[in-house]
Amino acid sequence: MRQTDHFIVGGPAGEASRFGDIFDPNSGAVQGRVALGDAAVLDRAVAAAQAAQPGWAATNPQRRARVMFEFKRLVEANMDELAHMLSSEHGKVIADSKGDIQRGLEVIEFCCGIPHVLKGEYTQGAGPGIDVYSMRQPIGIGAGITPFNFPAMIPLWMSGVAIAVGNAFIIKPSERDPSVPVRLAELFIEAGLPEGICQVVHGDKEMVDAILDHPAIGAVSFVGSSDIAHYVYNRGVANGKRVQAMGGAKNHGIVMPDADLDQVVNDLTGAAFGSAGERCMALPVVVPVGDATAEALKAKLIPAIEKLKVGVSTDPDAHYGPVVTAAHKAKVEGWIQTCIDEGAELVVDGRGFTLQGHENGFFVGPTLFDHVTTDMQSYKEEIFGPVLQMVRAADFETALSLPTKHQYGNGVAIFTRNGHAAREFAARVNVGMVGVNVPIPVPVAYHTFGGWKRSAFGDTNQHGMEGVKFWTKVKTVTARWPDGSLDGGNAFVIPTMG
Ligand code: NAD
Repeated sequence: MRQTDHFIVGGPAGEASRFGDIFDPNSGAVQGRVALGDAAVLDRAVAAAQAAQPGWAATNPQRRARVMFEFKRLVEANMDELAHMLSSEHGKVIADSKGDIQRGLEVIEFCCGIPHVLKGEYTQGAGPGIDVYSMRQPIGIGAGITPFNFPAMIPLWMSGVAIAVGNAFIIKPSERDPSVPVRLAELFIEAGLPEGICQVVHGDKEMVDAILDHPAIGAVSFVGSSDIAHYVYNRGVANGKRVQAMGGAKNHGIVMPDADLDQVVNDLTGAAFGSAGERCMALPVVVPVGDATAEALKAKLIPAIEKLKVGVSTDPDAHYGPVVTAAHKAKVEGWIQTCIDEGAELVVDGRGFTLQGHENGFFVGPTLFDHVTTDMQSYKEEIFGPVLQMVRAADFETALSLPTKHQYGNGVAIFTRNGHAAREFAARVNVGMVGVNVPIPVPVAYHTFGGWKRSAFGDTNQHGMEGVKFWTKVKTVTARWPDGSLDGGNAFVIPTMG
């Protein structure tokens, strides 16, 4: 059976005493196992990181950027292998896996320009004979803890920026699909990164706690579900670390009466059901404004949903594949039942879906509910599956209030031809990332990714300049070079800014 091990400098990590199963979501069978590490494994990774990091930080930023260029080339050259590995453990279709890798590579492209963004600030003559300058220095050792749903993109968000600015980085991927991050770390070394600067440790809560408690780790970036994000944030901050912790989501798509409904249906089917709904920027809630909009949208949505092809992840015609585990399938189907029990109208039922020849795969058919209301638990909580809930709103203000009042505030979209409505919406909605006629508004790499409310704990986003700020500390130098030949000699005078 295939085994995914830690990727640590200094030889084998020792025989693991605990392992986790890695499933093939298409067949439902166990296809491998992953070593589950502990504090001793982490200590070894930290020791290697401590040995390597000062040299890497002292490497000039242009040389560090060259590693990023070469890494990007290598990932592109290995795209097919990586995408197949990713799909086989996650279940998303190959095209989605390539998208997962590509969006991560865009952050690496941003990191190719790291010398430019690391330039500090300088003020000449801040006082008499005094200059002030600031520089950004790496934290030292950073760690990333990542979810199952983007096993390439999210590790690349974190590792790219953390490493490019001069840190050593240790990643703890999801134990459900842990193999791609190991392959990426191997490619980093092949690209010229010194050993010890990018390492991978595997594990569950035991390893997460070891990371949060380790005194040598200065910053932790987490992405996953909200309760765990909150826990990670609190424990990491209590231990004096810098922590950013991204959590769950329940993103709304507002459909104004003037929207192009064919476009909306196309966007919604991709955004609600693509990747089996296992995206933190999916659109699992649609909010048509007015009953006429709701009826017209529903009439177009039903046939579009019925045409979706659910298939194995290697099927090039499949729109989406299985969900990640049997437990997750049971959870999604449980939420469908809850939504029925709460009184919503089940329009398309995806439960009990089986694929011939893959009867034990973790498939869930696309599901549509109408007349979902804001008091329902199935509306308040994240389902994270191929389930679209329609919540009807009487007018713009009501529609705006729904994502604004929801506990999550990751992404939101408005579909309209009215620029004023779109502008008002973007300005007033209480959500971190907004799409205007863009269903999945994941910002490009040189902007920054992050939600609001229970979708993110901490105040710094992923990648872009926010990422650079997260992975660096600012040092400000106030310098005076007295000239002994001038009147006053070397006598020190406390400078004033006047
Ligand atoms: P998860 O919270 O179960 O796991 C995330 C990480 O936490 C994993 O590495 C896991 O090993 C670890 N972990 C699990 N249980 C733990 C515990 N009790 N204590 C400490 N660590 C623990 O999340 P998931 O199911 O892998 O991923 C899906 C979730 O991630 C969804 O809620 C989704 O919305 C969210 N997500 C958010 C974003 C974002 O940017 N906001 C992006 C992607 C995914």
